[in-house]
Amino acid sequence: MKIFEKKEALQSHLGRCRERKLTIGFVPTMGALHLGHLALIKRAKKENNMVVCSIFVNPTQFNNKEDLKKYPRTLSKDIKMLKSAGCDILFTPDEKEMYPAHDDSNMLNLDFGKMDQVMEGKFRPRHFKGVATIVNKLFIMVNPQKAYFGEKDYQQLAIIKKMVESIRIPVQIVSCKTVRETDGLAMSSRNLRLTREERKAAPFIYKILKKARSLRKEKTIGDIKKWVQKQFLINQRFTLEYFEISNAISLLPLRKWDEQKKAVACIAAYLGSVRLIDNIEL
Ligand code: AMP
Repeated sequence: MKIFEKKEALQSHLGRCRERKLTIGFVPTMGALHLGHLALIKRAKKENNMVVCSIFVNPTQFNNKEDLKKYPRTLSKDIKMLKSAGCDILFTPDEKEMYPAHDDSNMLNLDFGKMDQVMEGKFRPRHFKGVATIVNKLFIMVNPQKAYFGEKDYQQLAIIKKMVESIRIPVQIVSCKTVRETDGLAMSSRNLRLTREERKAAPFIYKILKKARSLRKEKTIGDIKKWVQKQFLINQRFTLEYFEISNAISLLPLRKWDEQKKAVACIAAYLGSVRLIDNIEL
């Protein structure tokens, strides 16, 4: 596996690969890799001649300085995992490489309408502006045929699909199912920050999502929301930030069931100081 820190070196190498007609699959990450990330790498490896992974903890998508500071960084372990998964190229730029300017000219200003105002967007102002900016910059540098994103970050995936469609970026977005621990907890780099007790309690979130799904046939959306809120009042380990049932494409809240529209239930909750998110298609 080749490792690049500078975009010029990465691009000249990728240029030579393109001359040889090799197709490129791209997996952007923030590192602290786990089997969820590796599933994306392996799928990209199957569907392309070569795989590029990036590791960059993107400061502009964090609205909480403490969260950015505490984000796990495990580069040497990540490198080993990527090698064993067959990744061809790792791009690990530093902040100056991705944000050369010292002002807002670094940022991409797209209007996603209401899509980035709800759920994650509501509780993490400017988060999706940071995500769209970094993913767009990486797409320009890597110029892949396909890019792989996890359904774990459902709203992020929807926003990236919308960005690619609206500003006509020539890349195919491939969505990949959420990889879970055997007890149902969605794999996440943030799980590393849970205490042993918290880790034991964490599968509660997915249990609630599964139960919400099973209630779809018999209950209104309003009733399910109330039921979920109550469960989080009973289980005081968690602080529920939001539970929403949304249109799976627009991500806007659904008021009543509509058989024509796919729905997704999304949740964010704090367990101690760690913020966890998850979702389930209904
Ligand atoms: P991150 O490093 O958290 O920015 O994630 C990088 C990519 O991996 C994103 O597309 C995530 O949605 C995806 N991802 C993270 N966790 C999982 C998981 N448990 N299953 C599938 N994909 C995941």
